[in-house]
Amino acid sequence: MTKKLTIVDTTLRDGEQTAGVVFSNQEKLRIARLLDELGVDQIEAGVPVMGGDEQQAIKDIVKLGLKASIMGWNRAVISDIESSLACGVDAVAISISTSDIHIEHKLMTTRGAVMERMVKAVEFAKKQGVYISVNAEDASRTDMEYLIEFAREAKIAGADRLRYCDTVGILEPFITYERITKLIEATGIEVEMHTHNDFGMATANALAGVRAGASFVGVTVNGLGERAGNAALEEIVMALKHLLDVDLNFATTRFREVSEYVARASGRILPPGKAIVGSNMFAHESGIHADGALKNPLTYEVFKPEDVGLERQIVIGKHSGTAAIKAKFWREYGIEIGDAEADNLLARVRSTAVDLKRSLFDKELMYIYEDMLAQRN
Ligand code: MN
Repeated sequence: MTKKLTIVDTTLRDGEQTAGVVFSNQEKLRIARLLDELGVDQIEAGVPVMGGDEQQAIKDIVKLGLKASIMGWNRAVISDIESSLACGVDAVAISISTSDIHIEHKLMTTRGAVMERMVKAVEFAKKQGVYISVNAEDASRTDMEYLIEFAREAKIAGADRLRYCDTVGILEPFITYERITKLIEATGIEVEMHTHNDFGMATANALAGVRAGASFVGVTVNGLGERAGNAALEEIVMALKHLLDVDLNFATTRFREVSEYVARASGRILPPGKAIVGSNMFAHESGIHADGALKNPLTYEVFKPEDVGLERQIVIGKHSGTAAIKAKFWREYGIEIGDAEADNLLARVRSTAVDLKRSLFDKELMYIYEDMLAQRN
């Protein structure tokens, strides 16, 4: 894979469209700055035609003068694009549904009319000299022949790329690979993957698209987005680096920090088991895993915790072994524990963890240790 890959973040547009999520304008500006500092190439900043605060936030983001390109989202409607241009963005996404179910039941029009609207909108934007992504909404449920025709017409009208939207998240990686290969072979157009996570495959489908030749990946921080969300920025960047050997030189050490900020701003807590940035990513409790991770972290970790701004944690609880207990006391408290003591402690730790139905806090572990010493004396 030698082609350059471009990361397009839509936390501020698709991410904010998550039911119940609203960012303040100040938060939008902060998120745009953070995305730029991470290394995101293009930021989809919102929907200018909404006016009001939405429009103001986009204007203010443009004024930040970030390295990233700033894109406004539009329907295939001239007045939408005029609103985007008025915000000073350098790129526009022009979106229209291409699946028959959307064309007939949502737009209540015809394939021909959709094509015509898209071409008009793209030709208008092209004259203004902005970068253009044509978004085929519900592309994954679109007749392939029609989609190919749509992409060809988009390219002729002046589109710089086609956003392949798996709007309802029904792709799987093998089908994705076949479809994107076919689309690129037939049209030569640059493709962006925009994948939703309804079946838990947003990241996998985006990577399959990349393997098939897509050169843009649409993401959101924490995978925020409509329903089950989008492909997560942190997952895509780390998977590209560690699974496909494509290093985009992102400031990955700040991933946890940015994820925490967006989690707070969106009011969506970051689950402990969240891939890449969850607090459990580098927490080891089971005796065998903790023992391995203490001897050589690579036995149970693919990359270093500090690579994404996390820390390794040895959790003491029901599944702990003596090696972890000894290591914990020595490394964190400077207390050396012998084999007999470790066995004694382990039995106490296990019964306490079962009683409490959880692992132990450091203080609890220390109390158990003190009780043990007191009973021995
Ligand atoms: Mn979407």
